[in-house]
Amino acid sequence: MTDNSTRKLRELGWNSFFQNQFKLLQIPGSEPARVFSERKQAYQVYSRHGELSARISGKLRHRASMEGHYPAVGDWVVIKPQVEERKCIIHDILPRKTKFSRKVVGSRTEEQVVAANVDTVFVVNGLDGGRNFNLRRIERYLTLTWSSGASPVIVLNKVDLCPDVDEFIRDVELVASGVHIHAVSATEGTGLDALMGYLTRGKTAAFLGPSGVGKSALINALLGIERQVTGEVRVADHKGRHTTSWRELFLLPSGGAVIDTPGMREIQMWADEDDLQNVFYDIEALAEECRFNDCQHYEEPGCAVTAAIERGDLDATRLESYRKLQRELRHLASREEQSARLEEKARWKKISQWVKETKTMRKHL
Ligand code: GDP
Ligand code: ZN
Repeated sequence: MTDNSTRKLRELGWNSFFQNQFKLLQIPGSEPARVFSERKQAYQVYSRHGELSARISGKLRHRASMEGHYPAVGDWVVIKPQVEERKCIIHDILPRKTKFSRKVVGSRTEEQVVAANVDTVFVVNGLDGGRNFNLRRIERYLTLTWSSGASPVIVLNKVDLCPDVDEFIRDVELVASGVHIHAVSATEGTGLDALMGYLTRGKTAAFLGPSGVGKSALINALLGIERQVTGEVRVADHKGRHTTSWRELFLLPSGGAVIDTPGMREIQMWADEDDLQNVFYDIEALAEECRFNDCQHYEEPGCAVTAAIERGDLDATRLESYRKLQRELRHLASREEQSARLEEKARWKKISQWVKETKTMRKHL
């Protein structure tokens, strides 16, 4: 690759982590690209040739249908380009540094990756009061973010509507110690420079938060563009013509990228119980002091958690929130196990069918 095209890829987040994985694959005539949109398994990627539309190879499709591992927005993929036609074939997906998953719609507990290789997640709440600010929800999104491998940053938007910002910040600090908190206004442009600090060259950010807190307004303000609907933007194509294009990963003029996918907006809990430790460090630390190892912190004698609540050192609602998330994650884990068993069964059925078919084919040869 030439220096110039390497520089372009670096702006997109290409680094030695992916470079090493890419080298190991040794697919002749291949090069890396990053997925910026996905619709019904039709992909768009950024490559050193610019934007290309992409399809996955038969081999990758076969593997993906067995394992459910399709490329996702943000993924680095291995392509073979057909530059003249502005097309390419995706042959493989490079290992992800981080990933956001959700349960596949329906009752089956299957993982679907909705965003890959996100470095920073802005957990957004609104300072306009009501349901736009919720500490329990912040805890939930923090758990989700830690479990993805990305780092969370808390954004309190609509600071222009709030007379007592410091009070809100103090409340958030109590549930998110060690996490950076920024009070901003998307419409006034206040505090956006601080957010830009996380979006330096090669870094990717995503936004989590319920609808109405101002995620779109923030993303538009950072990108300096106006999007009509999520994903629809007017862009100049490689011939300089203006067209509307669907995309879910946006490049900033400064070199960073922002991912905004419908999947991220509907994300449900998909995490491990261990991830709770990062968010409920205070409860986990207190629990170590309980007399019984398996203390559930109800009426047990010598319970350090209930003692802390009685002293006023721990908020009872925080313990409730912790319990609720724990129950949810346990429920998910048991469904996951069950679904893994079913999947294994289905896989063997496919394999034995294939063996049968090849046997019949041989007979006819
Ligand atoms: P999303 O659903 O999280 O993407 O939220 P939107 O970006 O659609 O914003 C919801 C509403 O809040 C819109 O009416 C915005 O104009 C408004 N809004 C967003 N950011 C701000 C802000 O910083 N200050 C004020 N006053 N309103 C805002
Ligand atoms: Zn206890």
